[in-house]
Amino acid sequence: MSELRPADNSASESGSGSGGAVEKSDAQWRQELTPEQYFVLRQKGTERPFSGALNRNHEDGWYRCGACGAKLFHSEAKYDSGSGWPSFWTPASRCAVRTQEDTAHGMVRIEVTCAGCGSHLGHVFPDGPKPTGLRYCINSVALGFEAEKAGNRGKG
Ligand SMILES: [Zn+2]
Repeated sequence: MSELRPADNSASESGSGSGGAVEKSDAQWRQELTPEQYFVLRQKGTERPFSGALNRNHEDGWYRCGACGAKLFHSEAKYDSGSGWPSFWTPASRCAVRTQEDTAHGMVRIEVTCAGCGSHLGHVFPDGPKPTGLRYCINSVALGFEAEKAGNRGKG
């Protein structure tokens, strides 16, 4: 019933001109990212389950791409799958992430990458909750969290 709103309420926030793809050299990524981020985002690595700081994060807010900062997932779509990785049943918007077949490690899985910069985020599996039935299984280290400002919290 409650429909998740796409991320583009404030459309004019960043120039979305001609595709807006973030392209950086491998050396640049290596310089900007932590070794853990680089391993996951740029080398399609996977962090150890239950190791990520955001796995148990229950705050309201946005999960952004750890590489380019794009809004990828919202806390409304996060749920505890028990897998040990942050899990979402839908991305923030249809164009926030891309999916493609991944046949590495002798398995056929659907890889999830950031639409903005092409970085590896995790995989999507068809065993998620309603309404999508999808489980976006995302590495915590591939994400940055931005808490939503809760209106007026009585401090003044
Ligand atoms: Zn990105």
